[in-house]
Amino acid sequence: MCGIIGYVGYDQATPLLLDGLKKLEYRGYDSAGIAVYDGNLIKIVKAKGRLKSLCDKLSAISLEGHLGIGHTRWATHGKPSEKNSHPIASASKNFAVVHNGIIENYLCLKENLIKKGINFESETDSEVVAQLLDLYYDGDVLNTVIKVINIIEGSYALGIICKNEPETLVAVKKSSPLIVGVGKNENFIASDATAIVSRTKNIIRLKDEEIAIVNKDNIKFYDKNKNLISKDVFHIDWDVSVAEKSGYEHFMLKEIMEQPKAIMDTIKPRIKDGKIFFDGISLSKEKLGNINKICILACGSAYHVGYVAKYIFEKMLRKTVEIDVASEFRYMNPIVDKNTMVIAISQSGETADTLAAIREAKKLGAQALSIVNVVGSSIANESDSVIYTWAGPEIAVATTKAYSTQLSVIYMLAIYMADKLSKVSYEQYNSYIKDLMKIPSEIEKILSGHNLIKTLAKKFYNCKNVFFIGRNTDYAVSLEGSLKLKEISYIHSEAYPAGELKHGTISLIEDGTLVVALATNDLLYEKMISNIKEVKARGATVLTLTSQKHKDIESVSDFNIYVPDISDIMVPSLSVVPLQLFSYYIAYFKNCDIDKPRNLAKSVTVE
Ligand code: GLU
Repeated sequence: MCGIIGYVGYDQATPLLLDGLKKLEYRGYDSAGIAVYDGNLIKIVKAKGRLKSLCDKLSAISLEGHLGIGHTRWATHGKPSEKNSHPIASASKNFAVVHNGIIENYLCLKENLIKKGINFESETDSEVVAQLLDLYYDGDVLNTVIKVINIIEGSYALGIICKNEPETLVAVKKSSPLIVGVGKNENFIASDATAIVSRTKNIIRLKDEEIAIVNKDNIKFYDKNKNLISKDVFHIDWDVSVAEKSGYEHFMLKEIMEQPKAIMDTIKPRIKDGKIFFDGISLSKEKLGNINKICILACGSAYHVGYVAKYIFEKMLRKTVEIDVASEFRYMNPIVDKNTMVIAISQSGETADTLAAIREAKKLGAQALSIVNVVGSSIANESDSVIYTWAGPEIAVATTKAYSTQLSVIYMLAIYMADKLSKVSYEQYNSYIKDLMKIPSEIEKILSGHNLIKTLAKKFYNCKNVFFIGRNTDYAVSLEGSLKLKEISYIHSEAYPAGELKHGTISLIEDGTLVVALATNDLLYEKMISNIKEVKARGATVLTLTSQKHKDIESVSDFNIYVPDISDIMVPSLSVVPLQLFSYYIAYFKNCDIDKPRNLAKSVTVE
């Protein structure tokens, strides 16, 4: 789930591997290691904890060679420890392997290998791959890898080196991302382009069960029947600086500040002469008319975008919208058929649960549309159509600009579909487009007032519990505000539909409990005032987030944050921003590791 890097070329592998791992550091991990072929043996150095521990260890050892692999681990099987870190050597030391993902049938494979007398050094599922490579090795690495991938089940991105083939990196993947970086007299493998973009911007994405045999001046690709295949090279158009903090203390703050640009990049190319166009997507009136249900599949913050979408689509399209956590959808015998439109949302396009959910929906006949940030990612490849968010690489584990660009795609999709279905008047359409184009500059205004939010965060960073309440899309945004706070500051918080609190959870409100009330929805504003009064009567301190026109809130609430006035459907794009900043500054005052919160990883490629 975390990071893989591999190098073959004329330069020393160790510094390049460490540099690549550094770029992958943002993904969150618990240990790291590298393996380098030194001309005689494969030497492995690993350390528990942050990359610094590995670097410290390596500063006392000389590890020279021109072929190597590196890994940052997010433990799934076996606790974080040096022994369980990758690269993992086979018993004969002929192979070293790095693995992201989970080998689901590892237990029975391990038992069989132990019966054959093979000793296991680690508790990981990954070690079976190394030992199977040893067992099946017939002098030809490609043959051996094909045999092994025919046996293992689950998800994997594998980087492999073999002592007997000292100029070759082997890469293979299934349901976990892996790319090959094409350089000049040097080549790379990586789980993420950020790891190699400083050396090459030309990459080739592996598809499931494709194998890359990578040498310093040639790369060959095979399918699992050993047929040679040709693959297209993709040129990355973003610069290495996006993977750097550029003067900001944290990537998260940088990415919060980048939101106006990211949203503009996402919407502007799709609006021509005041009309929305999606390249490569044609949703005719007839096609849309036949859709009787929209089913949104996502996880985490993307799920919260889906929650906003549910309110907006139902309001504008008058179609039933179901929103499902992707990991649940797959196993709930879902009611989906050819008249269901499935919309999958994922930043990385590699989220394992979402990918599996799309596959399930497609098996049942649904058409899948995905909203993803990474071109050519697995979810994009497996969907019938894709709308890319042009957020650029997101480094902080807690998403901000990906969430915001996903939301802007949702608005565009809602307006586009409402227009096709004749559910929106000419005037209303134009006014939505005007508001859509206004979002980036309105967010700029909120960002320029970040010091006020910093001051509020300073007041509250010691609190133990926070409740977020709201109605309609304000509730959907509350879900994201609450998650952001939990993710990076470790403060317990819950989001509740404001009218639901009194049906149980209000018992948790006591003197001084912080309640963040979202009250941007004009139609429900009065109802929110009542809910604010209810919690205040029980001792809560209330921080209200509302629109500028509702200044009268000051007579009811203790602290207030205002966002510019905009149409109800688009206000979530504005109201989420102060919540991101609030969580950021709370975590900042608590001295938390903001970009790499404990236990979390960036793109969740395991189930
Ligand atoms: N399942 C493997 C382990 O626990 C790989 C985890 C990862 O993706 O980092 O070692």
